[in-house]
Order: sequence, then C-alpha cells, then structure tokens
Amino acid sequence: MRVARSAWLATALLLCAGALPAQSSPSADTKTSETPTEPKAPRSFDLSAIDKTADPCVDFYAYACGNWRKANPIPADQSRWGRFNELSERNRYLLYVDLKRAADAPKTPLQRKYGDFFAACMNTDQAEALGDKPILPVLQRIDSMADKKQLAATIGWLEVEDGTSALFRFGVQQDQKDSSQQIEGVGQGGLTLPDRDYYLEDNPHMQQIRTQYHDYMVKVLTLAGESDEQAQKDAGEVMEIETALAKASLPRAELRDPDKRYHIMSLADLQGLDPTFDWSAYLSGIHAPKVDTLNVAQPDFFKAENQVLSDQSLEALKAYLKFHVVNGAAPWLSQPFENASFEFFQKTLQGQDVQTPRWKRCTQITDRSLGEAVGQDWVNENFPPQNKESMEQLVAALKKALAQDIQSLPWMSDDTKKQAEEKLAEFRQKIGYPEKWRDYSAVHVTRTDFIADLRSVDKYELNYELNKVGKPVDEKEWGMTPPTVNAYYDPPMNDINFPAGILQPPFYDFSKDPAVNFGAIGVVIGHEMTHGFDDEGSKYDGHGNVKNWWTPQDRSAFDQRTDCEVKEYSGFEPVPGVNLNGKLTLGENTADNGGIHIAWQALQDTLAKQGKSIDEKIDGYTEAQRFFIAYGQVWCQNIRDQASRVAAKVDPHSPGMFRVNGVVRNFDEFGKAFGCHQGQPMMPTDACRVW
Ligand SMILES: [Zn+2]
Repeated sequence: MRVARSAWLATALLLCAGALPAQSSPSADTKTSETPTEPKAPRSFDLSAIDKTADPCVDFYAYACGNWRKANPIPADQSRWGRFNELSERNRYLLYVDLKRAADAPKTPLQRKYGDFFAACMNTDQAEALGDKPILPVLQRIDSMADKKQLAATIGWLEVEDGTSALFRFGVQQDQKDSSQQIEGVGQGGLTLPDRDYYLEDNPHMQQIRTQYHDYMVKVLTLAGESDEQAQKDAGEVMEIETALAKASLPRAELRDPDKRYHIMSLADLQGLDPTFDWSAYLSGIHAPKVDTLNVAQPDFFKAENQVLSDQSLEALKAYLKFHVVNGAAPWLSQPFENASFEFFQKTLQGQDVQTPRWKRCTQITDRSLGEAVGQDWVNENFPPQNKESMEQLVAALKKALAQDIQSLPWMSDDTKKQAEEKLAEFRQKIGYPEKWRDYSAVHVTRTDFIADLRSVDKYELNYELNKVGKPVDEKEWGMTPPTVNAYYDPPMNDINFPAGILQPPFYDFSKDPAVNFGAIGVVIGHEMTHGFDDEGSKYDGHGNVKNWWTPQDRSAFDQRTDCEVKEYSGFEPVPGVNLNGKLTLGENTADNGGIHIAWQALQDTLAKQGKSIDEKIDGYTEAQRFFIAYGQVWCQNIRDQASRVAAKVDPHSPGMFRVNGVVRNFDEFGKAFGCHQGQPMMPTDACRVW
C-alpha cells in the first residue's frame, strides 16, 4: 500500500508529505473507539496562553506559550500536540461529518464514491473476517519467482497491483533543467525505518530500535503464516538488505542540493550501473511510457543495489518483498496486524500511548486517497469566498514587502538584486482549493473490500503520474488537499500554495487587528515566499529551472549568512543529548527568519496606510508586541521525547520552541518591542540574518 500524494514535494510549512515513513498506521480498538465529538474552534491571539511569570527577553516561547502548554497536555492518541493539531483535529472532525453523511445517504455519485470508501474503511468486522486473506495472493506471487531474473517484473507488478514500492523509488517529476518537461525518475529508497541513520548509527538507542524492529518483522511475518523459525531468518535478511541500501543512500541534508538528485541517463546507462536488474521489464511492468532518457537521481545507489541483488539469495529477496507487502497492508488488516503496526511505528518510535480512533484514521486516509472529491463539499461548507479575496490582498502586501526587503539588503549587489526581483515577479500563488478538481472516475470503490479500494487508489495515482510524462505541466495542480493545515512552496513550479484548511484561526482571523494576522498567516506567507530564496530555492530561477543567477561574491555572502544559521540551530537541543541538524533544517529556518522580516515590513506598510502606530495598544499590548505574540502562539506545542528524536533525524523543520526563540533572537525589532537589552538571550550580539 502506498496511498500518498506528492512524493517529491519538499518544502511544506510543517511535516512534508513523505518525510515520515508511510504515515503509518495509527489504529484503534475499534469496538471501543471513542464517539466523534466536535472540537472547539481554536482561538487566535489567546491572552490566556501567555505565562506572565516568564521573561520574554529570556525565553519568549515560555512567555507566549507557557500557559497554553500547561493547559494542553498531549492527548493519548497523539505523539505531539500544538496549535496546528488543534486546527487539524477540528478540520478532520468536520470532514468526518461529510464522510459519515455520504456513507449513510449519498446525494451525488461523488458522495457515493467517497462515502463507500469511508464505509469500507470503517468495516472492521470485514477486516477481522478476512484476516491475512487480502495479502495472500500477493505473497504467493512473490513466492512463485523461480529465479532472480524475474525480480524486476515482480517489483513492477507489486507497484501496479499492490501499491508496494521496493528497493528504490520511481516517480514522475519536472525536469529541473527544463521545468516545462515531465520526466521519469528513479532514486534511492527501499527502507522501512524513518532514516538511513536508524540502520547505521552505532549507539544504544538505535541498537534498541533495531532490535524492536526485528521483533516487529517477526511478529507480522508470523501473522502472515510463517513459522517462527522462518520469520526469524527472514527478518534477519530484510535487515541485511535494508542496511545495505541505507549505506548506499545519501543523508537527507545532502539531498537538499538539487545536483544530488539529478543525473539524466539513457536506459542503457542505467542498465549498465545495475545489470542484475532488468530495467526494461520493470518499466514495461508498470506501463511507463517509453522514453529515451530518465533521471537517475543517485547513480551510486543503483550500483550498490546491483551489489545487493548479486550478494543476496533469491529467498532473501523474496523475504524482503514479502515483508514490504505485509508491512504496507498491516494498518488495514485484522486487529493483530493493526496492533503490531501501532506498537512499533506509533508507540515505540513516536511515543504515542494509545491507538488513534478508527473514525479518525478512516477520515485521514479518505482525505489522502480521494481528497479532491470530499474536498469539494468541505470547502463549500467551510471556506467562505471572501477568505480567498482577503488572502489575495495579504499575499500582494507580502510580495511588495519582499521586493522592498531585497532592495534593502546590504550584502547583495544590484545585479543579483535584479535577478531576485525577476524571480519574485514570476511567483504564482494558489489559495484555498483547485480551480479544476481531479477526476476520480478511474478509482473503483467497493463498500466491502477496503484493501481492494486502497489498491485501486494506488493504481490510479501511479497512472495519474505516468500520464504526465511528455505532457505540458499542469500549473493548476495541487500537492495538498483542501482541508490540510499546511502550506508549501514548490521550486520547479515557483508557486506558493495555501490550502483552505490553514486559512482559519489561529492563523487567519479578520475579526482581529492587522498585527495579529501579519504575525500569524502573514509570517506563513512570508515563510513560503522565502523558500524561493533559501539554500535550495535560491538555486532555481523564476521559471523553476536550476540555474545560477548569482554573482560569485553574492553567493559567497549568502553562504556565509546561511552558515550562521546552520551553527545557531545546530546548537539547539530538543531532547537532552540530541541536537538539531542545522544543515537539514536550514531551508525552513531561513524561511522562518525571512518570513518574519517580510511580514513585519508588510505590517508597517498597512499601519502607515491606516494612520496607526506600531506602539498603539490593544488589551495592554502594543501592535508590535501583538505581532510577535501571534507569531509565537502559532508554534505552541507539546511533543513526546520519542517523536522529538525522530523529528531531529527526519524533519527539515525545527520544533516549535526553536521556530519561536531562534527567530525572535535574530530580529532586533523583537528586542525593541519588549524592551530587552543587548546581551539578553532573546537579543544576542551574534544574531544571524539572511533575508
Ligand atoms: Zn517551509
């Protein structure tokens, strides 16, 4: 099972799609799952969240969020809890209401489709009755391989018929040297644990996780019918294969460099790297259009893959494929599979106490699978048209502020400034929901066989992607569904995207003064725009092509300034003994720091137009203070240590605490607004500034 969208999407505001392993499988004791209840709408600018006993100049996060954090412990079915989660949970509930209604009494063919999908997901009696039956034919297909020559065709078959990817990742992407072209690409993949480091790091924490992973593999392979002895042997072989693939994989932080993801090759060249794997058989197996060249993102990975295929026995490779099939389906099979998956991926890895109620899981997977079907009804009910209009105005204000910011940069020459402005002028924006909705008529939904429904969605997604090859790029396509509480910048598209789901309190509330909105959604918009100019985005031009538009001096001044942020954030310690990876989080940190400057500038312009002063007080706080508090409160969050450890390895975003304190300490207007003096923690003498 795959059921994921936008596999190549890189720069979201929150966790990126694909950043975590197959967003595995919370699962519920469905017989006792809690009754859905409507969560309260989150408030913007929450005075009661402020902890006045904390000194904003020493720890602004403790000040802005202290009381919120005390009043909002992490629910047992979550691994983190923040303002984003409050809103996502509410959106999810409202989506659930639509799904339930469609499941019980559909009024349109589309409602029948997503209603049936949801109903099939909720049908746990059926899942119990079927046990491991839904995956048995797939396992038999793997077992029927007579020799390694059939491996490529089998992997292609698994991709199409079961939505299972193995050994590497295949996808369709814009050519980064010519963004008008859609090309086929293959890249490193084939792992199950969240990151290569989980296989390679030699310390007690990682060793323990590897032991627990081994036990999990044994558990689900046994459930799928293997003897304990066989399952032990298979688990050992899977670990060996995945460890070899991990060794051949580039670290996440290096993948931020577009050059490390791009090597155009002929099929014959790829075949030369990896002679043991029959690439023609694989590509024709997935029905990929015939092409002269494709992007082999990491050629060395495929040399290593070849070695793995030569070294490993056919039996070991079968074990690897079988485990990937079982693991992918486990969250949606009968209770013992579900529990095993929950115990390892949610409890052990993320620290989540109890399984997420079934209705939440089913709502989420329906959104992920048929998001632009149910999203149509959701936006009609939950996204007033005037929100889109006001948002257009805000984006325009932020664009103007970014242009001013570029002009004022002391470290950039006029030549590069001109190029940066040209890129900014090419920015496009998408707000709320797609102008044209996806056509899901090729998805076949039964009300009685959820695994079959998931496979149909996977097949549809694969065909949807393959159908892009050689065709013009669809600039109207979205990488997130309408109820999503998130936003993204897409470098090859050079566009910023804000789903309807995030355009609500605490981000967006037009009953509030401009300072509050610029501090919240304003910084979100500024953040996405700054991604166009972060360590990665700055390597793309306005047409979405990787092209150097910098003078060498300006590039080196930029690198010096981003190095300051790398050092600063590498010093932050989310869990004792665990530091952030300043290189992995550089793009997001640059976007946060740039975003607040731009939003601040846009607020100044707006207040000037209204004849108001930044020192004007509302509820006892100046407009300047309200701007920073609104910003800080977006990131109020509690997170379990386990989830924090995983995030430090895989998440390009810093945790809430550092998104707040790391940013305000770099911005002197913060110190001025709160009367801090130079040398205090939130007004240091070694602040970093890029944009
Ligand atoms: Zn971002």
